[in-house]
Amino acid sequence: MDLKSTDSDSKYARIDRFDDKTIKELEYHYKEILKLIGENPEREGLLKTPFRVAKSMLFLTQGYEMNPCEMLQSAVFTDEYREMIVVKDIVFYSMCEHHMIPFFGKAHVAYIPNGKLTGLSKIARVVNAYARRLQIQERMTTQIKDCIQNALDPLGVAVVVEAQHLCMQMRGVESPNSVTTTSDFTGAFKNNVTRNEFLNLIGHKFH
Ligand SMILES: [Zn+2]
Repeated sequence: MDLKSTDSDSKYARIDRFDDKTIKELEYHYKEILKLIGENPEREGLLKTPFRVAKSMLFLTQGYEMNPCEMLQSAVFTDEYREMIVVKDIVFYSMCEHHMIPFFGKAHVAYIPNGKLTGLSKIARVVNAYARRLQIQERMTTQIKDCIQNALDPLGVAVVVEAQHLCMQMRGVESPNSVTTTSDFTGAFKNNVTRNEFLNLIGHKFH
């Protein structure tokens, strides 16, 4: 049993997608958006806003330029360890693809290796590579699971994602603080005993 926690991806090399042409085009369009919503893009507070939003958007969607499966495969090592490895409380920030408004929360990931292991920080990098694009929580959950399953070929993978959706909360569709949980399991985690062991380890209660 190995329970590790990670709350950051600090070793994660941040990719700047700040190529001038893309930023200029985004800047132009955000300026137009400001006009369309009734703002004056020439007022002092907004002068640099289109530029800032352009850079921010490229940062928040940098996952498109990442290949998490390739990254994982390049960081595999062999070991006989065959117990459940749990990485809990991986903080992520994503944006819903329907409203382009944030959803954010924590991902909990476990796998039972079958000879191939990877560094714990790499699991957090996989989560963030899929989070930093336009997403829906269900697909993100499955993508994380598939990536680890394909790269490590373990005896099983478990992914639970808990998130708050600002697009629901801000528009009053959902009460504040309401949390949406998604999960996906392969192999050994389809077994109730193993799955419950994982859920207990992450302190999860299905509502
Ligand atoms: Zn939404």
